[in-house]
Amino acid sequence: MRVRRTPYLIQLAWYTLEFHRHHTCTHCTRSGWCSAVQVARTRLTAWYRYRP
Ligand SMILES: [Zn+2]
Repeated sequence: MRVRRTPYLIQLAWYTLEFHRHHTCTHCTRSGWCSAVQVARTRLTAWYRYRP
């Protein structure tokens, strides 16, 4: 059995998105845009595209 572990950075990206469901961080703007979320989304998209 071979289980591929989720990389730490991907886990971190998920955590960032989950966190922003109920909270804001220091990167969040008043309009709701957040650079941290953008980075996390980009990272997750790249991860899912790369994963076989
Ligand atoms: Zn934020």
